[in-house]
Amino acid sequence: MSNTVILGAGIVGCSTAYYLSESPHTQAQSIHLVEPSPELFHCASGLAGGFLAADWFAPSVTPLGALSFKLHKELAEKYDGKRKWGYSPSTGTSLSLDSDVVGGSGEDFLRNGTSRAQAAGARPARGANGPAWLTMAEDASLEIISRENSTAQVDPLRFSRFLLDECLSRGVQLHHPARAISVSKDVKDTLASVRMCAEDGTESDLPCTRIVITAGAWSPKVLSTLFPSANTRIPTAPLAGHSLLLKNPHYNPEAEENGCHAVFATDTLGFSPELFSRVGGEIYIAGLNSTQISLPDVATDIKPDDRAIKRLKDCAAAMVNLPEGGEGMHVLRESLCFRPVTSSGRPIISRIPDEKLGVGMSTRGDNEGGVFVAAGHGAWGISQAPGTGLCMAELIEGRPTSANIQALSLR
Ligand SMILES: Cc1cc2nc3c(=O)[nH]c(=O)nc-3n(C[C@H](O)[C@H](O)[C@H](O)COP(=O)(O)OP(=O)(O)OC[C@H]3O[C@@H](n4cnc5c(N)ncnc54)[C@H](O)[C@@H]3O)c2cc1C
Repeated sequence: MSNTVILGAGIVGCSTAYYLSESPHTQAQSIHLVEPSPELFHCASGLAGGFLAADWFAPSVTPLGALSFKLHKELAEKYDGKRKWGYSPSTGTSLSLDSDVVGGSGEDFLRNGTSRAQAAGARPARGANGPAWLTMAEDASLEIISRENSTAQVDPLRFSRFLLDECLSRGVQLHHPARAISVSKDVKDTLASVRMCAEDGTESDLPCTRIVITAGAWSPKVLSTLFPSANTRIPTAPLAGHSLLLKNPHYNPEAEENGCHAVFATDTLGFSPELFSRVGGEIYIAGLNSTQISLPDVATDIKPDDRAIKRLKDCAAAMVNLPEGGEGMHVLRESLCFRPVTSSGRPIISRIPDEKLGVGMSTRGDNEGGVFVAAGHGAWGISQAPGTGLCMAELIEGRPTSANIQALSLR
């Protein structure tokens, strides 16, 4: 049996294992997920906002975005996603203090600190009624920027856990905490195994013919560690993001039937806040990003910055209709995590050609071997994860992909 080793058990790694383990061509027991962080999902996959969009993407990512949105819905319907991971329709809105019209597409908002609402690329419908929890300044206007049934909300932590639990129940093997430190080849110079190091320093060889790199912002480092003479690199960079999770003081289970809200505000506080209400009475606040915070070796090796958290709390006090003028703020979680971003704004979902792996390294033919990468999803990895996992499983097995991902190849 030829093993597939998936490096990184975030949402992209778990989605890949999920769809690969559904295939009749691959035995679940031959799929190995490797994760070095002592706490699972203490990374962007567990700490993100969880907003989903069907069509807020650049044309090259449109097929992947649409497929993913459809798969999210199907998974939620099949497995009671509303109860298990808070899947719900959501209304996307843009909050501004002037009459700016949103427009454009792509991910420039991440780099220049403007609002994600720009990516909606639609002219807004004016005069939306805001959610009860939102404080509206007198000169502010709230505009609906999502089309009906084209945006949704999940709790990414519970969704990622669901994917992993499903994989494990099918027989997928999790190595945790452990990391891959080198690869070995056989007499024909073909990839034959990965050397693993467990937390206590014990080393062992895991035979495999395929490696899939799904280590988010750590993916470039994984490639250069395992293939030091590779003549390509994974062109992603880490972008840190702080966030705050609050208890919704206006939580009303009945109103929840009408769906959640996403509010993308223009820059009024030195950054462009994003606020998401979630099923079960949570409000998630983010938008405070930085390229100046270094990626830690292990995801849990970093703590949120006090000043950044203070700014998010100030933002919550200004924008969330809190009891006792902000004194009644109930903070459930303060966090910091890293998105893997690409300069093109496109994720990379690709096989790495054997000739780029470095001198004297090849992989088994007939779709039984290969080194692959799925990384660089930027601000949209939760939304695009199911489609990425399905297409990656298809790519691994040499089948036609369910979405056109040609533009997402490693160049
Ligand atoms: C503040 C914030 C809010 C966001 N909000 C949204 C949103 O609302 N909607 C949306 O769609 N997206 C959102 N995103 C983006 C989304 O979270 C990411 O694109 C997505 O989680 C990336 O998933 P991933 O699996 O590629 O990477 P990660 O989640 O980073 O997972 C990578 C995994 O690889 C592991 N790893 C590290 N080193 C190694 C190694 N050497 N070997 C093996 N594994 C390793 C890590 O420990 C981690 O578990 C947000 C991101 C941030 C930062």
